[in-house]
This record gives sequence, C-alpha cells and structure tokens, in this order.
Amino acid sequence: EGRWSLAGSTALVTGGSKGIGHAIVEELAMLGARVHTCSRNAAELEECRRRWEDKNLRVTVSVCDVSVRAEREKLMDTLRQTLGGKLDILVNNAGQSMVKAATECTGEDYALVMATNIESCFHLAQLAHPLLLRSAGGGASSVVHISSIAGFVGFPGLAVYSMTKGAMNQLTRSLAAEWAGDGIRVNCVAPGGINTDIAKDMTRDPEIVKSQATQLPMQRLGETEEVASVVAFLCMPAASYITGQVICVDGGRTIA
Ligand code: NDP
Repeated sequence: EGRWSLAGSTALVTGGSKGIGHAIVEELAMLGARVHTCSRNAAELEECRRRWEDKNLRVTVSVCDVSVRAEREKLMDTLRQTLGGKLDILVNNAGQSMVKAATECTGEDYALVMATNIESCFHLAQLAHPLLLRSAGGGASSVVHISSIAGFVGFPGLAVYSMTKGAMNQLTRSLAAEWAGDGIRVNCVAPGGINTDIAKDMTRDPEIVKSQATQLPMQRLGETEEVASVVAFLCMPAASYITGQVICVDGGRTIA
C-alpha cells in the first residue's frame, strides 16, 4: 500500500476497449488495481479481456453505452457485484467527437454529444459517490475526468464537443469543492492531440491540422500511455493533496 502504488484499489474506467481508456486500464491494473471497464462493443471488449488475462492483469468488462441513463445504472449494479461494492477510483474517459460546422449541428447531434460526454460523467459520479464514500480516507478515493484542450481553446468544427469538455473542467472544480469533506478527490486530465481513432477523425479536417502544426511546441501527437501515467498518478496516495485540478497533457499546445 505504498504512496506510489494502487495495490488493493478498485477502479472503473469507461471506454477501455480502445485508445486512451485502454491505456488507462492497463496502467491502473499494472500498478495493482482491480479494474472494470465498459464500451458498446461486446466482441471488442471480450478480445481485450482475454489479452489482459494473458498479461495477468485483473480486469473485468461489461457492455454499457454511457449515453443511456438506464445503462449507466445497470453498469453500477454490475460493479457492485464484480468489485464487491468497493470502488476507489472512477475514470470518466468514454467520449465521442463530432467534427461539424456549428451551423450544421442538428438537435440530435447536440443531444448525443452532450449525453455521451458530459451527462454521463455527472450521472456516473453521482452513482459512484456512495461507493467512493465507503472507501474514502487517506486520499485513496478519487475521480478523474478526461476532458480535452478543446475545453480551453477554440477549434473550428468542434463547438459542441468543446462545450462538453469545458463543462467537464468545471464539473471537476465543483465536485472537488463539494466532496473534499467526504475524502473524495476530483481531478481532470485534458489531453491535446493523442494518437487514437478520435485524433484520426479530427485530422481529417485540414483547419484543425493547420492550427495544431503551427502551435504545437513538441511537434508531435502524444501517445496514450503519456495520458494514462498522469491519470494513474492522480489516483495514487502520492497525489493526496491534489484536488479540483485540470492538467493538460498536450506537448505544450496550450502555452504556445
Ligand atoms: P477512442 O475512439 O480511441 O476510444 C473511445 C473509447 O470509448 C472506446 O473504447 C469506445 O468504444 C468507447 N466509447 C465511445 N462512446 C461510448 C459510449 N457511448 N459508451 C461507452 N463507451 C463508449 O477515443 P480516445 O481514446 O481518443 O478518447 C478517449 C477520451 O479522450 C474521450 O473523452 C476524448 O474526448 C478524449 N480526448 C481525446 C483526444 C485525442 O486526441 N485522442 C484529445 C483530447 C481528449 P465503443 O466505440 O466500442 O463504445
């Protein structure tokens, strides 16, 4: 139970079948946590579960579309069984991008991105609170949101997506203030361009690529592990005095 370990902890990471979520699941599990993750694709999840089992990582999986309220409730019921009702770490990672001119976003587009990216985080945090409370103490209990640098700077074609990410940054501060007395820390990691499917989606837009290339001090996309390590640190007892913070992992993009 060292300050730089997650041994004995349990964690829920949403959207762990691919990309950043996948790297977070592995990082937390390698540091000793028991992890549960979800996504919408049962076959992909099972494939991941098998690979994790081969690596001796303790990870369970279940299907959940985080944009649907009833599915979020079902996920928490599953969690009470698989993790024995003990939850130390919630990582709200699942999210979806939508590259579209603001004038072209339909009501359905808006509702889907809001439900997937922000309503899900708020509701999962609400549902997890009683479980986090049970394991609170010694800075052991924490929530980490994965927002984006799009929550700080403006990108053309990303208005609704960016609104959800700005809201996650604020949700982090609000919950941190409200739950500090409960012994629950709430922090946020805001990645810049990371080498995943979402980034491929965005790099189809030449405007976004141009603004990235000229303003990115480190001149490269980040890797998923480079985000996962910061998430893991925030969950550790070593980070026990950090709460309400939004940390950019962006190769310097927001300071240039
Ligand atoms: P990926 O598309 O690579 O992976 C997304 C993961 O979330 C998949 O496992 C996907 O599985 C799952 N997921 C998506 N929608 C849902 C849903 N409705 N319910 C449950 N699971 C879902 O994305 P990234 O890893 O790139 O992104 C992860 C997070 O990081 C997102 O919140 C994103 O906004 C954020 N981010 C990413 C950046 C980047 O450059 N990559 C930059 C800044 C932030 P499935 O589709 O099968 O459900």
